[in-house]
Amino acid sequence: MNILVINCGSSSLKYQLIDAKDESVLAKGLVERIGIEGSRIKHDTTGKERVIIEEVMNDHKRALELVLSSIINEEYGAIKSMDEIGAVGHRVVHGGEKFSESVIIDEEVMNAIEDCIELAPLHNPPNIMGIQACKELMPNIPMVAVFDTAFHQTIPKENYIYPLPYEYYEKYRIRRYGFHGTSHKYVSQRAADILGKDIKDLNIVTCHLGNGSSVTAVQGGKSIDTSMGFTPLEGLVMGTRSGDIDPAIIPFIMEKENIDFDEVNDILNKKSGVLGISGISSDFRDLEDIAIAGNERAKLALDIFCHRVIKYIAAYAAQMCSIDALVFTGGVGENSDIIREGICENLVCLNIIMDHELNKVRGKEAIISKNIGGVTIMVVPTNEELMIAKETLSLANNR
Ligand code: AMP
Repeated sequence: MNILVINCGSSSLKYQLIDAKDESVLAKGLVERIGIEGSRIKHDTTGKERVIIEEVMNDHKRALELVLSSIINEEYGAIKSMDEIGAVGHRVVHGGEKFSESVIIDEEVMNAIEDCIELAPLHNPPNIMGIQACKELMPNIPMVAVFDTAFHQTIPKENYIYPLPYEYYEKYRIRRYGFHGTSHKYVSQRAADILGKDIKDLNIVTCHLGNGSSVTAVQGGKSIDTSMGFTPLEGLVMGTRSGDIDPAIIPFIMEKENIDFDEVNDILNKKSGVLGISGISSDFRDLEDIAIAGNERAKLALDIFCHRVIKYIAAYAAQMCSIDALVFTGGVGENSDIIREGICENLVCLNIIMDHELNKVRGKEAIISKNIGGVTIMVVPTNEELMIAKETLSLANNR
């Protein structure tokens, strides 16, 4: 069965058509600037040349229409007709407490996703637009919602309740939800497969390090704690997000800078993190280059980033008593030997001992620890689309 995976942002739409038989990608692409002047699709069919389609796309439905016609295009498409699409999997950012697993989308599910809009006001609305567009254009094809938050629904209460008046949890659903769940689930399962062990017998710490970053403690295949919280702002230092800070800093800078809540929110989400510290860039590749050239603030930003990751890994090691595997993924985790080294060299006390030669790997699955019986350190490129396709296939087959 071919599965179409859809990931809708407010002005973008990423897609992949995956053949579930052998998990190969038949076609993939990115629509940019939906509803903005200059909208275009970059479409790649495996084995064919990239096509760029520049056309006005006022909404997600028009974008999806053009995506579908590209997928079945005689010249540059991947399949002959829409009948060859067996199911559609949608990435949905927030499933609240309602969804601990992926689900077939029906009216009740749509209502529940809408009910989570207040928890993810920037993300759930475009996800809903994508689902609605698919429903209109492919009314008879089963659709599945795969939630970023679902994997973390196994986190125990002592790790998800904030030390605030308890009524805020009851009234407003304020709690730790965690994000990047599809990625943490995928890489922890891949790590167990590579080790040839049952995930139920393993304690794994997964580090998804990219523009947005989070660390998760995966015990016996279940998330028991994660660094992102009520929103993706908590936890690690990120490209532009602050991660954990003393909450008292917020009213303090509001007063000092004479700014309102929207402005401080913008600072914490878009002007902080390694960008804020370095004053130069949110891009880790840039920062590494500039730090190597001698820039102190870029070096400081990377050091602070690594130290926060170290803190979380050590905390999760303590929570699980021991770690069998430490997994790096995400654009930085998969590609940056410098960051991986900066993290692991400070974790020797936990028996996390890196092999510097093996660490020179980039963007592919590898074991990078010394083979001396300590924690297995691994690089596992994430593949959220494949995970979404697998979950979609399994639900579509069991209907
Ligand atoms: P993501 O958000 O997962 O796509 O990750 C994006 C981040 O990964 C950007 O900050 C990139 O600079 C970073 N990145 C990608 N390749 C490398 C690399 N070879 N070395 C360091 N950082 C990288």
